[in-house]
Amino acid sequence: MRKLPFDKAKLEAIAAIWPTPFHIYDEKAIRENAKRLKKAFAWNKGFKEYFAVKACPNPYLMKILKEYDFGGDCSSMAELVLSEKVGNTGEDIMFTSNDTPAEEFLKAYELKAIINLDDITHWPFLNRVLDEAGVPGGEARWEGRIMCCRYNPGPLKGGNAIIGKPEEAKYGFTRDQLLSCYRQMKEAGVKRFGLHTMVASNELDPEYIIDTAKLLFTLAGEIKETAGVEVELVNIGGGIGIPYKPDQKAMDLEYVGDGIERAYKELVTGKGMGRIRLCMECGRCITGPYGYLVARVRHIKNTYRLYAGLDACMSNLMRPALYGAYHEIVVPGKEDAGETSVYDVTGSLCENNDKFAIQRVLPVMEPGDLVVICDAGAHGHAMGFQYNGKLRSAELLLQTDGVTREIRRAETLDDYFATLNFDGL
Ligand SMILES: *Cc1c(COP(=O)(O)O)cnc(C)c1O
Repeated sequence: MRKLPFDKAKLEAIAAIWPTPFHIYDEKAIRENAKRLKKAFAWNKGFKEYFAVKACPNPYLMKILKEYDFGGDCSSMAELVLSEKVGNTGEDIMFTSNDTPAEEFLKAYELKAIINLDDITHWPFLNRVLDEAGVPGGEARWEGRIMCCRYNPGPLKGGNAIIGKPEEAKYGFTRDQLLSCYRQMKEAGVKRFGLHTMVASNELDPEYIIDTAKLLFTLAGEIKETAGVEVELVNIGGGIGIPYKPDQKAMDLEYVGDGIERAYKELVTGKGMGRIRLCMECGRCITGPYGYLVARVRHIKNTYRLYAGLDACMSNLMRPALYGAYHEIVVPGKEDAGETSVYDVTGSLCENNDKFAIQRVLPVMEPGDLVVICDAGAHGHAMGFQYNGKLRSAELLLQTDGVTREIRRAETLDDYFATLNFDGL
């Protein structure tokens, strides 16, 4: 049974102020995890984690992570602006976008972000955007800036369960395109370079992450030899998984850190290359296990199956409906209840896949019981939507001092109608 950072009495006190459903994040656990990640890679001078903003785009959490020197991995205008708001600019932003619109390239350039190109055609596209914006050309354009390319290894790298086969993924350059782009950028006066790939999602095998670093270190050597470009940073992407299921094990970050250090000694130091800063852009493993969706049982329904209908629905947490994902469910106060039943735990959306759990053994529940859905801290609230007139919930922070703070209010009907003008009817 999952250990929660709050008990039933504490949750009821919180719910008396902020009615269910809400997301709540455990600040203490987020801080401890951030420290641990930094420590595992402390051997690499200049190591940096760029928190994938899309996983949990809340500026209060981003600001906490900034205290550990985490930057922001952005891929949209809103994410760039959020990063700017928390004081992440310049090299504290990695702009890893795809199918990128002109205005986002321009914004990233203005913020002096590290721009990570997704395609060889984006290099001339970016230059055209900057020309049109009146940004001076030539070497001055790239003065002090790091330009990066996203590598897609295609068949050279086996597939990851969620992200699929790299050669079927829409992201990144082929090897030849990559080498060509580095040459073009060098000719244009770019002096600082990075190299990126992202080939994992929710990966729990540490060897897969270590292999990704090996692949990039080797490629960095080839880029130096064939394009005469030395990359100063290698970004292994995000995708470190978390143990959603009780029988899964968390990624051993120390093991990954040690494994990548060994690869670095062999493939970077051992090959006489200059220093390379290791970067990553994880989202899920940074906030995922430390966020909870708290809801209340609204109805118990007994037909062909037994249903526990909650006041939350898939607009609060879409992963089970979208991927059939497993999330642990705890009924606070009934953790040790002897009496159990088998439930489908549902939301109120008019879609039959609006189920947080299917045929799950849980303590016998009554209307009014609190229910905690675990591991909702990444790709949880963030994926929320308003289909079926459902509103997004509040986000709360359980602070280190034990006090709860609202870090995003719940949406209201006025928010839902804000884009409609009824006067034109
Ligand atoms: C989604 C995404 C991430 C974060 O992935 P996690 O699984 O949350 O670690 C990082 N980088 C890019 C480019 C992404 O699209």
